[in-house]
Amino acid sequence: MAIEMDDDLKKAVQFHGHMCPGLAMGYRVAKYVKEHYPRSEDEELVAIVENSSCSVDAIQDMLSCTSGKGNLIFRDYGKQAFTFYSRDKGKAMRIYVKGDFFEGMDDVRRKYFQGKLNPEEKTEFEALREKIIDMILTAPDDEVLSVKEVDIPAPAKARIYPSLKCQQCGEAFMEILGRTAGGKVLCKECFEKTVC
Ligand SMILES: [Zn+2]
Ligand SMILES: [Zn+2]
Repeated sequence: MAIEMDDDLKKAVQFHGHMCPGLAMGYRVAKYVKEHYPRSEDEELVAIVENSSCSVDAIQDMLSCTSGKGNLIFRDYGKQAFTFYSRDKGKAMRIYVKGDFFEGMDDVRRKYFQGKLNPEEKTEFEALREKIIDMILTAPDDEVLSVKEVDIPAPAKARIYPSLKCQQCGEAFMEILGRTAGGKVLCKECFEKTVC
């Protein structure tokens, strides 16, 4: 079975490095946002992502919400949920990817990633995985996405902080992340090595 890919998805696969169910979920979310919110040229669109898995790469690639630009905020909740705040519109929506696509497959998935399946099991699993990817890509919006408007305060804009030089390693770092120990100003890394 060949998975049908539009240009956005091809680009996202290239960016991410492979096609996988997580990327497919991120693609569905990003596509929905593109249709409802304008794309981020600078940082008018802010993404608050509740996981750090494959799906986030589709968000970064398709919506230009990137950690480098400061309009990607990571919350470590382990959920396939994403909130988008539009600075232009002053409003936000949260999208949760629903549908338990891997129900009852925890065991076989673990074995697959550990390389513990025999060749037949592996082929079988890969075919099923491809089916799941296709399902995620083609299901109607309301079957994969639970979307609701949410009322959240505007996320803080990325700020530029002055630099300081660490008195131990000599490297420059963002002032706000500085620590002091034994009367010296240290970068966080040196502080943790010395004190913790
Ligand atoms: Zn992936
Ligand atoms: Zn240092």
